[in-house]
Amino acid sequence: MKLLRLILIALCGPGILSASDLKVAALHPLLADLAKQGGGERVEVIDLIGANGDAHHFEPSAEDLKRAADAMIYLAAGLGLEPYLSSMKSVVGHDVRILEVGATLPVLHGGCSDPDHPHEDHETDPHWWHSIDRFKRAATLVAEAFATADAAGAETYRTRAALYRDRLDGLETWSRTQLAAIPKAKRQLATTHAAFNYFCADFGFTAFPIQGVNREQSPDPAELASLIRELKAKHVMAIFPEKETNPKLLSVLTRDTGIKLGGALIADGTSSVSYETMVRANVETIVAGLSR
Ligand SMILES: [Zn+2]
Repeated sequence: MKLLRLILIALCGPGILSASDLKVAALHPLLADLAKQGGGERVEVIDLIGANGDAHHFEPSAEDLKRAADAMIYLAAGLGLEPYLSSMKSVVGHDVRILEVGATLPVLHGGCSDPDHPHEDHETDPHWWHSIDRFKRAATLVAEAFATADAAGAETYRTRAALYRDRLDGLETWSRTQLAAIPKAKRQLATTHAAFNYFCADFGFTAFPIQGVNREQSPDPAELASLIRELKAKHVMAIFPEKETNPKLLSVLTRDTGIKLGGALIADGTSSVSYETMVRANVETIVAGLSR
């Protein structure tokens, strides 16, 4: 394929065909950002889901796959977030690598992380991107996949990944410094869906999700009553909505508990310019909601 493209470039002249060395399609907005950070000029990134897509409900259309034609790698979050992957594989062909980035990262399971909470949820939690450490590991995985597909760029990809991991180290240090403003007893994160378990595990918070890991599951009245009792008993300070929140459910919860509504968090990477801006916005929102 690459030789063919080089011949075409030679025949048609530069500027008519893409100057990139590798074409990559992303099925998650944060992976599109990661691919751009890691690939630089060498990689053409096709962001199939777009900045406002919903990672839990997105499925690429035939038109999307046409846009991504010739992509050698598809980047997926994995851990069950994209149930369509096996059927997509037969469409895009077996020469194309579908990298489920989350598949080799340490995994958490969904639900509430409060040890006193009777409700258990053992579903695999796909929201690994809320762990900066896992996002750093993802940068390495993606760089190696790029290096395999485009050996001539291997050094570039590894250097870029190392620089990006340094930036993420800085982001993690900044996050810890900011979050230090929240006393330990107040580190309780009540959110709309169970998207923040990885964040809570890394930064010492207890997660109180209202819905499950895929946002579809709403609590039944008995579960909701139990959740309300628990949030009050634990003196949870704020309930944080998100962009795709169910406002009716949250208005019941804030009315019945008297707990204030926090600012909106970015749970699935939508509506953020980059991974780094998402993390900064979430940390600032959590600090504003819980430190006073
Ligand atoms: Zn989610």
